[in-house]
Amino acid sequence: MDEYVIQCWNCLGEFDAVAAVWCSCDPKNPTKLCPYCLQCFCQATDDFKGRFWQYAPATLLSERSSLRRIKDRLGELLVRAHVVRVEQLLAALERQSQTGDKLGQLLVNNGLLSGEELDLFLQMQSIPVPNEFSKEYVDTEQLHKINPEFCLQRKLLPLQTFHGANRSFLALAMANPQDMETVEIVSRKTGMRVVPFYGDEFAVSSFLKNYVPPGGARILEQETTDYQGIVRKIITGAIKRHASDIHIEPDANNLNVRYRIDGVLYKVKSPSKKDQGPILMNLKKLAKMDLYNSRIPQSSKMVLKLEEQRYQLNILSFPNPYGESISIKVVNLSTFLRNLSEIGLTEGQLGLAENSLDARNGLVLISGPLMNGCATTEYAMMRYLSTSNKKVMTLESPVFSHIKNIHQSEINPSLGFDFITGLNSIIRSNPDVIFMSDVPDAEVAATVCKIAAKCVVIASLNSISAASTIVLLRELGASSSLISQALSLVINQRLIRKVCPHCSEKSPISESLLIRMGLSEDEAKGLNTYAGHGCKECNYLGFTGRIAIFEVLSPDQNLKEMIARGASALEIERGAVRNGLVTLRSRCLDKINQGLTTIEEFQKCKF
Ligand SMILES: [Zn+2]
Ligand SMILES: [Zn+2]
Ligand SMILES: [Zn+2]
Repeated sequence: MDEYVIQCWNCLGEFDAVAAVWCSCDPKNPTKLCPYCLQCFCQATDDFKGRFWQYAPATLLSERSSLRRIKDRLGELLVRAHVVRVEQLLAALERQSQTGDKLGQLLVNNGLLSGEELDLFLQMQSIPVPNEFSKEYVDTEQLHKINPEFCLQRKLLPLQTFHGANRSFLALAMANPQDMETVEIVSRKTGMRVVPFYGDEFAVSSFLKNYVPPGGARILEQETTDYQGIVRKIITGAIKRHASDIHIEPDANNLNVRYRIDGVLYKVKSPSKKDQGPILMNLKKLAKMDLYNSRIPQSSKMVLKLEEQRYQLNILSFPNPYGESISIKVVNLSTFLRNLSEIGLTEGQLGLAENSLDARNGLVLISGPLMNGCATTEYAMMRYLSTSNKKVMTLESPVFSHIKNIHQSEINPSLGFDFITGLNSIIRSNPDVIFMSDVPDAEVAATVCKIAAKCVVIASLNSISAASTIVLLRELGASSSLISQALSLVINQRLIRKVCPHCSEKSPISESLLIRMGLSEDEAKGLNTYAGHGCKECNYLGFTGRIAIFEVLSPDQNLKEMIARGASALEIERGAVRNGLVTLRSRCLDKINQGLTTIEEFQKCKF
């Protein structure tokens, strides 16, 4: 099977373009959707596109040429109307080449549209889109419904409506048929599915001038630059879009602003390079940093209230050849703290976690790749313990939030307070539970295992599965027998993006394609798949927020013996599965089947 790993032009994520999904912008000339930011590369530079196709493997080239070979416009219209996905069209084309059946009939047989709707689309193929519009080409009733001024602004014209028993469709001439936001607005205003056609910009505007009084277009007022306002907008914009991080990075020509939303970096509209100096100044002033020192990194924290929610901003500045970079971590204090029962553990997993926390001793490991919600799990455990009468002490880097009844301390290596010093000092006060937000080296790893004989130790590690977390601790320098004696529980977790409930719909993918995307035959069989087609609620991403999935390994005697023998991660995982462990991989497939997430999220996690 071909593999073609490329780097996304937008978010710089690396993905396999063979397995990725085709976009629906222009079915005759489609590109691939990045599974991280869900942008296709239709808008990328010609240079990027040229290079992509130059090195593309045969599979991709042949799929593209079979799309280009379609003579009529039926497939294209169905894809543009979001009735059929490009993958489904490709599967039907493949079928067609074997059976010789009609394309439309094959799509009807697959349940993607009704026979009546097929007739509507066949009629739609032949509606005229002239280079000069007059009344007979335009649906003026819909024009008034949408509002002529809006049509002029967005350069669009309603052409004709087609009514089926369940859905109605509006053929819409647009200067930019790829403009999904506009498509969505028109579809809401008219209550119909929009089928975008390309319409000449000049022709559309000249016709609409007859309907919009002169002076209808407003004159924008000149403003003086409000730098504080720009800074405020960057921060509140991130909070409103639920971003977890803001990155402000100058390069030679731009002041780039990116938000991390649900784990993915997005470029946002950047302020002008000439305003860089005053903007960075205002930001540093807000963060109470030393304004005139840009040669050393600085850090600061502040709390901000917006619409009844409290946010903590952890702000870091560091030197950059083109000025100074600033990164801001945004923690919503009102939702960051959750109860252990609310973070997404299944009932069985919750029971195992509570047993380990209630025990007198034992080592509990929390693990996952960076930025996959481990801190939320740690704090949920702290909250659980804060209501017991236990003495709980923490060593954190940094302390995200203060919790009543917990003795929290922040690691500060520049003052000589590192994890091992901290650990040695808190052991002396006989705590019942110790939290460690990291296990940085061999000495800490061995100490943690030893003291887990006397109290409960909860430690966080950066690792991709429960079994490999155990191996990681061994590789760090703790002995197999020590780990085996101490270990009481390992949690591994992942955050996966949640399909937007406002625009989610069933979106079947053929079994052969699922297998190409990395599923086994058994896993692919009968799997239901859904996708969000994008709406205002989700900023046209098709996703809103994330859900956590967990695998929780609680070793029995057998497994402990395997660990003591120094078994590999694969052996440990197989043993644990025999013992009832449900892996992240199968949890993720469950969530796909329930319509809560998509196959792209599965691919991204590489379970
Ligand atoms: Zn991307
Ligand atoms: Zn595209
Ligand atoms: Zn949506």
